[in-house]
Amino acid sequence: MTQLNLVLLGPPGAGKGTQAARMREDLGLSHIATGDLLRRHRSEGTDLGEQAAAYMADGQLVPDDLVVAMIREEIATGADGGFLLDGFPRTIAQADALTDALSAEGSAVTAVLLIDAPDELLTERISGRRMCPAGHVFHVKHNPPIREGICDRDGESLRLRDDDRAETVRQRLDVYHEVTEPLASYYEEHRLLHRIDGTRSADAVYEAIQTVVGRIMTGAAA
Ligand code: AMP
Repeated sequence: MTQLNLVLLGPPGAGKGTQAARMREDLGLSHIATGDLLRRHRSEGTDLGEQAAAYMADGQLVPDDLVVAMIREEIATGADGGFLLDGFPRTIAQADALTDALSAEGSAVTAVLLIDAPDELLTERISGRRMCPAGHVFHVKHNPPIREGICDRDGESLRLRDDDRAETVRQRLDVYHEVTEPLASYYEEHRLLHRIDGTRSADAVYEAIQTVVGRIMTGAAA
């Protein structure tokens, strides 16, 4: 079967990370999440992390050249069995760079899954989101940890992500609508876009994703 290279597109809080974790396990794809990679760079104090920190704290996008260089390296080193891009591309320039990087290796994006939901729901989800330093994610109402404020998986303290504060969330949503949402038409024109209703429960969204991926795999194998 053709290698499966998937892109998860959607606003902050749509559930991309949650769905990606399940897809990675079921489909055996490398999960490349630019937000997680940038947070790791920031906590390790690399040059890239230092350059990215101020943009992230303000809810702005990190400049394309920095993110594209980072993603090229990730794709080159670890995606033989196909990949799942989560949080990349976020601009048309990034999408073009991705197409170029893949076609240079005789590869391409197989499909783009857009998980969408209205801003009010996204804001409610993000404001209740809590994360441990290793990146395990909970929600105070929809997915609470067994012990309040403590990660079930590693016992570390859970915190609100800095950029999950209300004022930064508004900024991130504005940036999404202005700069990232146009990618839906971009990928629609390339006949790669599949829309998933992200307002439902995580299980229901995952079921919808499985249906779409099943169809893609059948098509790709035909
Ligand atoms: P996320 O965890 O995907 O919500 O990303 C957190 C932050 O990392 C974003 O608000 C941006 O500042 C930065 N970031 C993540 N992915 C990208 C990207 N593809 N392009 C530019 N900035 C990004």
